[in-house]
Amino acid sequence: METHGLNAARMKERNYRRFINALRFKPMTRAQMGREMGLTRAATGVIAENLIFAGVIREGPLHYQGQYSSKALFWNKDFCHIGGINLGRDSIKAGLADFSGNVLDSRHIPISECCSGPDAIHRISLCLEQMLEARKPAGRFLGIGVASPGPLNTESGTILKPPSFDLMWNCPVSSLLSDRFHCDVVLENDANALAMAERWYGLNGKYDRFMELLVDTGVGAALILDGRLYIGSAGFGNGFGHTSIDMNGPRCVCGNNGCVEMYAAIPRIAEAAKKTDPSLDSWRAIVDAACDGEALALQALNNEAQYLALLIVNASNVLNIQAVVFAGEQVLYRPALLLATVEQEVNRRIAASGERSIAILPSQIPDNAKILSCTNLMAEKYLEQPFMFSDAVKQSESDGD
Ligand SMILES: [Zn+2]
Repeated sequence: METHGLNAARMKERNYRRFINALRFKPMTRAQMGREMGLTRAATGVIAENLIFAGVIREGPLHYQGQYSSKALFWNKDFCHIGGINLGRDSIKAGLADFSGNVLDSRHIPISECCSGPDAIHRISLCLEQMLEARKPAGRFLGIGVASPGPLNTESGTILKPPSFDLMWNCPVSSLLSDRFHCDVVLENDANALAMAERWYGLNGKYDRFMELLVDTGVGAALILDGRLYIGSAGFGNGFGHTSIDMNGPRCVCGNNGCVEMYAAIPRIAEAAKKTDPSLDSWRAIVDAACDGEALALQALNNEAQYLALLIVNASNVLNIQAVVFAGEQVLYRPALLLATVEQEVNRRIAASGERSIAILPSQIPDNAKILSCTNLMAEKYLEQPFMFSDAVKQSESDGD
């Protein structure tokens, strides 16, 4: 039956993706892969051969402490190289990474040097061209991943009108880059891009359902549910910062009252703390004083923890997430006390609190998170393409079923 054939093909495709993803973190022998995937030796062999043929993985000797060696499968980092462009409100970064996510080079330009959106893309393209020329990285050029504050039209690859980012309004980023580099371009909201990279390069695949919570001048969130990015209405991201925690609270620009962002955004918490003690005029000052045990600073930090805990409890009671990963340069300054307080409060308040708990973590992505979050977009897009596996799927289907 046709539907049966379709489902079987999807299952095979899913097996290929699981196979590739299992090899992201550590090389494995064919026997280990078979056990990990629950596949027969023959089925493991077919998938491995096809992926080696496609160039995505390789097989070679594996050394343990210079003594024992056996043949293992691993990602072929030289399969391709990928460009990444991170558009931020202060600066624009460009970088190059290999297929395994090793950042090979990166540069940035201050946004104040650019006079328009197309000019910014022209200048950063020059940087990328220079890096490609100087590095001459191995493999094919897969394309360019771009992350930007939203809202965006991800389908057309155009930036819409993000607040405080007037320079880039209505800039057709994807078409400018694809015309210049003759390659695929993918544009994604910056919080979404970070969450996708966090899954692989930060959490090493540990959680399938988590929230990446970006706390800075606003409060933004991205969701990975069952291993996939949850996409709201095209590029507008999720409105968790506009979860109300006080129905009688002040009116927010979104039209609601008492949104969590109005209390928990870093400038807001510093503003409120400064009224009680003028020396608490920044998040850094609050954290330093709280770590020294000063009462007013501890109160301010505790308020921030309570606001964010309410947001997280509301979200996790609906979505049943396993973890929340905090991101944002300022909020990650000496984060242990804040995160421990949030974790305690969240796990006290969530529904069925005795039976589950939610981990609260700082972002785990090593250096170059901004570039990795962009290059990863393109790698993910490539691995999502069904045609890549179509020959392999056909072959393994004729072996099985
Ligand atoms: Zn709001």
